[in-house]
Order: sequence, then C-alpha cells, then structure tokens
Amino acid sequence: MKIAVASGKGGTGKTTVAVNLALALDNVSILDCDVEEPNDHILLGADIDEQIPVTVPTPRVNMDSCILCKKCSEFCEFHAIFIGKKVIIYDQLCHSCGGCKMVCPTNAIYEIEREVGTIYVGYKGNIRLVYGKLNIGEPVATSVIKAVKKYANPNGITIIDASPGTSCPVIETIQNSDYLLLVTEPTPFGFHDLSMAIDVVRPLGIPFGVIVNKAGLGGFDYKIRCKELDAPIVMEIPFDKRIAELYSRGAPFVEELPEWRERFQDLLARIKREVEVID
Ligand code: SF4
Ligand code: SF4
Repeated sequence: MKIAVASGKGGTGKTTVAVNLALALDNVSILDCDVEEPNDHILLGADIDEQIPVTVPTPRVNMDSCILCKKCSEFCEFHAIFIGKKVIIYDQLCHSCGGCKMVCPTNAIYEIEREVGTIYVGYKGNIRLVYGKLNIGEPVATSVIKAVKKYANPNGITIIDASPGTSCPVIETIQNSDYLLLVTEPTPFGFHDLSMAIDVVRPLGIPFGVIVNKAGLGGFDYKIRCKELDAPIVMEIPFDKRIAELYSRGAPFVEELPEWRERFQDLLARIKREVEVID
C-alpha cells in the first residue's frame, strides 16, 4: 500500500508526519520525493549505503547528416531546440520525449544519457529510506521523482513524501497512491492552500484525509472549514510544548512519546479500512 503525504504549502509539518508515521509503523519504506530539498533522512537519522545516478536520454545531433530542415525544432513543444547555422539543444528544457529523433528525416539525431540527479538508499533499523536529489540547475524534477518511486515496496507499506505545493512534481509524486494525507496548519493561510491542494487531488480520485498540525494554535475554526471542504480530519497534532521541543531538537516525537506511536498505528488501520472499502 502506498500512502502519500503532501501539503498545499511548505512549513506545515509534512516531513514530521511522514517520518513519525514511518517510525510508528516500522518495517516500512519511506520515499522522499521532495527532490529539490529532501530532508526526511535528516529527521529519520538514516545511514546512507548506496548512491545511484539518475540519467535521462538527451538528444545530440550529428551535423554531418543534418540538413537544417527545422523539423525537430518545430516538433519540440518545450522549445529545447534552436536552429541557426547549426542545431543547438538546450538540455535543461528537454523533457526526453524522444520526438525530435523520430521526426528527423536524416536520422541525424541520437541520444546520450545525461546525469540529472542522484538516488540515495539507506536504512534506519527496519525502515528503508530512499530519497532523490536533483542536480543544481536542473529544472525538471519528474525524472528523479520517477526514479525514487521505483523503490516502492510491492508487498508492504510505502510512505511517499511529496514536495510542498500543488505543482507538477507533486502530481507526479502522489499519482497511483492508495491514500493521501494532506498536512495543514489551523490558519486561514493554511486552509487556503489546503483547499487548492484538494482541488488538485479530487480529480485524481485518491482517497484522502487531513492532518491538522499545531491544532489549537490561534482561533481559526478548522473543523467547520474541513466540513465545508468535505475533507475528513484523520488526525490532530496539538500545539504541544513537548512536541515543539522535540521538533526543535530534530527528534521524531513518536520516539519519545509512545502514545503517538499508537495513534499513528490507529491511523494506518483507518486508512486500510477506507482503502479496502473503496476496492
Ligand atoms: S527529446 Fe523531446 S523535449 Fe527533448 S529536445 Fe527532443 S523533442 Fe524536445
Ligand atoms: S530534423 Fe534532423 S535534419 Fe532536420 S534540423 Fe533537426 S537534426 Fe537536422
């Protein structure tokens, strides 16, 4: 079963939820798909054993065969090919679709494998952690996210941590998940971003529940707002001095507050029931 964790904006406690859930369940895989700023490994304290480069096919042109017909640049909807006195390919704009190679009438285009990021694999006890890191200057995160998602456990629980927001990398990350946890803070801003995230998620048909982090902070009536959004609250993590203090030390709170281990286990039981009913 794949459980994705996402949030409409950064700083809501999404990583805290993903890591504490993993620690409470034990013997799970956690995939950090926030490939521009992965940090689950820091909070989890995992030892990294393996590093694997992520490469993407990228076109190159044999100018001896090129007749400067421009068919490749006309085809490329990402404007990654410019034709002047020779063919220039902007690697960072290329989405590796292979289309330019197909339309070239003289077979002048071939592909090389270009490194765009790295996959890191490690363990904390029985928990397997995999995270991806996109190379600096690379704008297309989806290839690294896809590479991380290949490490999903086919027979057990996989927790997938998305990047914040509602952009393409988030959609790529949560697609094909069995359940989605949306983490938010009990503020008007938090719920504004949550409602945007729900608008994006609903058409995907993934069942979801809301986790309200820092519940009790401020006077915003998040319960009414969740009802209006038809979004079930599946967990409330209170604005608690002990949790805040552990967070400030970079310590996952389930390790120090065992009652939370049970709460996350109850959450998994609820998710399993809901997913089974839908199946
Ligand atoms: S592979 Fe696709 S995206 Fe990349 S340059 Fe060719 S047509 Fe454009
Ligand atoms: S389609 Fe082929 S021949 Fe035409 S400009 Fe592009 S690389 Fe050259």
